[in-house]
Amino acid sequence: MSASWKWPGSRWWRVDLHTHSPASYDFRSDADREAKNWTAWVSAEKSADLDAVAVTDHNTPDGISDIQAAAVAQSLWVFPGVEVTVGGIHLLCLFDPKCTRDDVVALLSKLGIEPFAFGRPDTSSSKSIVEVIDMATVAGAIVIAPHVNGPKGLLTMPPGLDRLRALKATGLIAAELGFPPPDPTGWIDPKNTDVQSWLDGTKIENRSLAQVWCSDSHAFDEAGGVPIILDESKRLSGRTPEYSLIDDSELRLVIWAAEGREAIREDQE
Ligand SMILES: [Zn+2]
Ligand SMILES: [Zn+2]
Repeated sequence: MSASWKWPGSRWWRVDLHTHSPASYDFRSDADREAKNWTAWVSAEKSADLDAVAVTDHNTPDGISDIQAAAVAQSLWVFPGVEVTVGGIHLLCLFDPKCTRDDVVALLSKLGIEPFAFGRPDTSSSKSIVEVIDMATVAGAIVIAPHVNGPKGLLTMPPGLDRLRALKATGLIAAELGFPPPDPTGWIDPKNTDVQSWLDGTKIENRSLAQVWCSDSHAFDEAGGVPIILDESKRLSGRTPEYSLIDDSELRLVIWAAEGREAIREDQE
């Protein structure tokens, strides 16, 4: 990330690889989307204790330049990116922090998305999913399959050659998993053995994919995802969230409701 490395040994970075800014048509609220307060957006990410974020608005690069400019003053690393819609599926394409809006514009043009269509709810690439992955890789981006177990995620595509080719595309380096929301329609449990076998390489026709968890935040108060929930739980209940190891790969997280009773238990790998 930098020519000078100030941290001997290893260091943990808090990174959110999937965020939306007021440049996304579905950013909430309408007032925040129209105000386009980029400094406030960067502040929200910093307040969530993030060191770096990828800006991945829907089929548009329009927030990137303003966010990069605002991020300098607040020492937030920004990976310019975009969430591309193709064949009803979403794909995250992320560029190096040295890259700019122009790199995203050039990629979108190759994918058949021109400026007049930037950010519209119905915008979609004219290419195939595999072509998008390949073209983004050639352009220097890395590609992640977001909400892979939910609506518009690769694993919820109908089984068949298109899904197989997409999951096996060498440019696809990771899959973002998500917890199903209260209405789980269209979602598959991330711990489902079929989902896991697509990701850990045990399914015979597949290779393994790195798994990432991101916020997919669409509002200021969603910045950082889980950390915000933890902070709010602590503030409201006065009790610190508790972690305990279940086994080598699973962690139990307990957060508390305002009146102090246990609110949610989540097991997270
Ligand atoms: Zn999406
Ligand atoms: Zn998204």
